Amino acid sequence: MKAELDRQFMQQALNQARLGAAADEVPVGAVLVRDGHIISTGFNQPITNSDPSAHAEMMALRAAAQSESNYRLPGTTLYVTLEPCTMCAGAMLHARVERVVFGATDPKTGAAGSVLNVFSEKQINHQTQVEGGIMSDECGQVLRDFFKERR
Ligand SMILES: [Zn+2]
Repeated sequence: MKAELDRQFMQQALNQARLGAAADEVPVGAVLVRDGHIISTGFNQPITNSDPSAHAEMMALRAAAQSESNYRLPGTTLYVTLEPCTMCAGAMLHARVERVVFGATDPKTGAAGSVLNVFSEKQINHQTQVEGGIMSDECGQVLRDFFKERR
């Protein structure tokens, strides 16, 4: 049941990633969920926004925090198609995100176990649960298709 829900929400994150590809941005998408409902969405758009922090996760966290007028987002699960980087992992800890579920691993900048693991530092005051590899083939394929078209 939980696994099926995870796949459904990851599918929504994938739809966000495709919006990124349509805008000529590296296709990474995210949705933020609380109590079984999507409360915000985001896709990678640093080029469009001239903003190095405009990663999919940051866009979703920002939108939810602004709509709730609260920089903390307890009880949320963030679904993202690619393993979060250090910035996004840090922002999730600051926002008190309860759980993060990611698709493909990122051997270059992944901060949830690939290059380093920000979430495993026990000294950090908030712990976010991490699950990786959900629909990793589909999530990775969107990225591969994007880069293949540009070569
Ligand atoms: Zn990031």
